[in-house]
Amino acid sequence: MTVSAEKMEFKTELKQLLYLITHSLYSNKEIFLRELISNAGDAINKIRYDSLDHQEILEGNKDWKIKIIINKELGTLTISDNGIGMSRETVIENLGTIARSGTKNFLERVKAQEGKTKPELIGQFGVGFYSAFMVADKVEVLSRMAGKPEDGICWVSDGQGEFTIESRAKNERGTDVILYLKPEEKDFLESYKLRSIIRKFSDFIEHPILLEVAGEAKKPEDKDEILNSQKALWLRGKSEVTQEEYDNFYKQISNDFQEPAKVIHYTAEGMNEFRVLLFIPQTLPMEFQFGEVKVGPRLYVQRVLIMDNCEQLLPPYLRFVKGVVDCADLPLNISREILQQNPVLERIRKDVVGSILKALKDMKKSEPEKYIKFFSEMGSILKEGLRMDFENREKVADLLLFNSWKTPADKNITLEEYVSSMPEGQSEIYYLAGETRAQLEYSPLLEVYKSKQQDVLLLLDPIDEFSLPYLQEYKGKKLKAVDRVDSTKADSESEILEATKSRYNAFVEYLKGKLDSLSDVKLTSRLKESPVVLVTESGGFSASQERFLRKIGRGQEGMESKRVMEINPEHTLVQKLRDLHEEKSDSPKLLEGVQTLYDLALLAEGSKVHDLGGFMKRVQEAVLKGL
Ligand code: ADP
Repeated sequence: MTVSAEKMEFKTELKQLLYLITHSLYSNKEIFLRELISNAGDAINKIRYDSLDHQEILEGNKDWKIKIIINKELGTLTISDNGIGMSRETVIENLGTIARSGTKNFLERVKAQEGKTKPELIGQFGVGFYSAFMVADKVEVLSRMAGKPEDGICWVSDGQGEFTIESRAKNERGTDVILYLKPEEKDFLESYKLRSIIRKFSDFIEHPILLEVAGEAKKPEDKDEILNSQKALWLRGKSEVTQEEYDNFYKQISNDFQEPAKVIHYTAEGMNEFRVLLFIPQTLPMEFQFGEVKVGPRLYVQRVLIMDNCEQLLPPYLRFVKGVVDCADLPLNISREILQQNPVLERIRKDVVGSILKALKDMKKSEPEKYIKFFSEMGSILKEGLRMDFENREKVADLLLFNSWKTPADKNITLEEYVSSMPEGQSEIYYLAGETRAQLEYSPLLEVYKSKQQDVLLLLDPIDEFSLPYLQEYKGKKLKAVDRVDSTKADSESEILEATKSRYNAFVEYLKGKLDSLSDVKLTSRLKESPVVLVTESGGFSASQERFLRKIGRGQEGMESKRVMEINPEHTLVQKLRDLHEEKSDSPKLLEGVQTLYDLALLAEGSKVHDLGGFMKRVQEAVLKGL
């Protein structure tokens, strides 16, 4: 049965991708072989997994193998597998479109930047199959699905925008990818070269990779040469694996082009036996910028791949970790539903989380520069652990790095360092959040702490202010925001003499009446140099939280929580205004002065002045008067 060839077009984004691939994208073209062998391995894993419940699809063939066939006469290199195979529909779906939305976003970015993106980056999207067009000017895919002996198909394309597809008989189940190598890429027909590439990139593929040279007569006693050691890295002992092997394995499973920052490799024995090989990347994986983040390591059960991303094994706040977990104690045909509440997985997860947190701690201690880079890239994600992992939140807290007014701008401080350098009399950990260090460093809110040589953490990551309260306390010390009404209760209003209070009563009432966007006005002793400051009621959002919520579209202009203005009775400006109020409470100068003072307080907390025109006029007049 032969249906005539059908011509089809690639989807637009795929055309763009192919254009990038064929026009000077990669410096190391040899990775095409890694990608195709990886697909072949995946296809075998798939049938092995599916056949657990459906023996019949095996057609009696369980001799898993991947063959690399060199044909110098035709100038072709074939990667052949006896995996699951593809039907007409799945070929069109898999080799005619790009399914991953992340890749589409990425391509849009590449287009917008007009090729300024680093070429290696595209590799992170597992261009996979299409990398064949780096070395081939024509690719033929012969495939036949497992259990469908009649339905062989042949897909052909020159990678320019179209492909054809037709029926073609194929005896063995599986897929042959035939590359018609470009004249300048004929090197890839040399067996020594293929051997070395396979050893470098695909050594740990669990199925045998065999080399065959077409036309070479084989004597019956000749054994097939297996090019890969097939020993899954995670099944080997730590001392048997080289750093280069780790790096290559990581690159293969993550599509990252950089080496991992940290390798975590161990075997757990005891109640459950499992092997763990995990990697912490140096920089935020690309998919985090383009959506579609898949959480969790690959799960193997006795070397059979069960799933690519096992979410149950990793909490979302560690989603940047990649790798493999192989467990001997789970049934092979475990279903996703059973995985949901499986006590074995639960135990592994606990163990894995502990190991990752420990690895990060080690890295922080012994490789601080590497850690700082990691933290600047993935710290915001890690901080989610304060909220989501109650049990480990102190361990997560140990990993955090902060700015503080005492710490130089280019350095960091940890909570542990903060607590150990607290001066006598300080019992809480203070923090203030905002957008930049420059804005926070001179905040009136820091004055009282500076005067006592007490440090205050300056939180510059918007997430901090939302996540830190979940910690509540660290090493028995409460965490306290310094921009709250009650931040300094102990030494604030109560420190003010009754006499001062009564002298200011009328002026405070006047302020409350005139500044109706405030919820209250109070005297304070927390200020040393500034006349006034704005603070928030303890349950409300702070100014910086409100700005952040607006930025991400979760808050509205004009919906801010009302602030409390605290005034410093020791400040000359405040004293003079009070005196003027006593003298002539309807003075327009008094009202102008009060409004300017309030505007300055708004600016100090990083907010916008409501009446900008009036503010500018008043300041200009004040400057003029001083000339
Ligand atoms: P990825 O492998 O990252 O999904 P590819 O572009 O390499 O992306 O492949 C696209 C899809 O084509 C695969 O997900 C798989 O479904 C299918 N495919 C590719 N090669 C094979 C193969 N040798 N056997 C069966 N299916 C394959």
